[in-house]
Amino acid sequence: MASELIEKVRSISGKNIYSCYQCGMCSASCPMAPFMDLLPHQVIRLLQLGNPDVVKVKSIWVCVSCMTCTDRCPRRVDPGTIFEALRLLTLRKGIDRIRYKDLRDLHEAPSMALIAVSRKMTG
Ligand code: SF4
Repeated sequence: MASELIEKVRSISGKNIYSCYQCGMCSASCPMAPFMDLLPHQVIRLLQLGNPDVVKVKSIWVCVSCMTCTDRCPRRVDPGTIFEALRLLTLRKGIDRIRYKDLRDLHEAPSMALIAVSRKMTG
């Protein structure tokens, strides 16, 4: 249910995804963008459309919660917090999408990626 997913994200994050007008500032400033399958503004758009596959997008797990996107967003959409809400929806179902052995794919990523990953596991 599209509206159910959007309402859950709003409830967890407290953010209004409909404020996003796709300017792309979040994507242009994201240090993890080269490692993402969809750019942050594209993830927000997928969520606006209510696509349930948004929780399967690799980008929300690659995000290291540096909150640069939050700082740059002219509409206070706060993609970093929305990504955290999307991760929580998955983790609360007991589903792990990240394993430590996957970190070899992030060997060129900032060191904070290693720290952030431990917040993306159920156990
Ligand atoms: Fe949307 Fe904000 Fe990203 Fe612009 S910076 S695309 S308004 S989330």
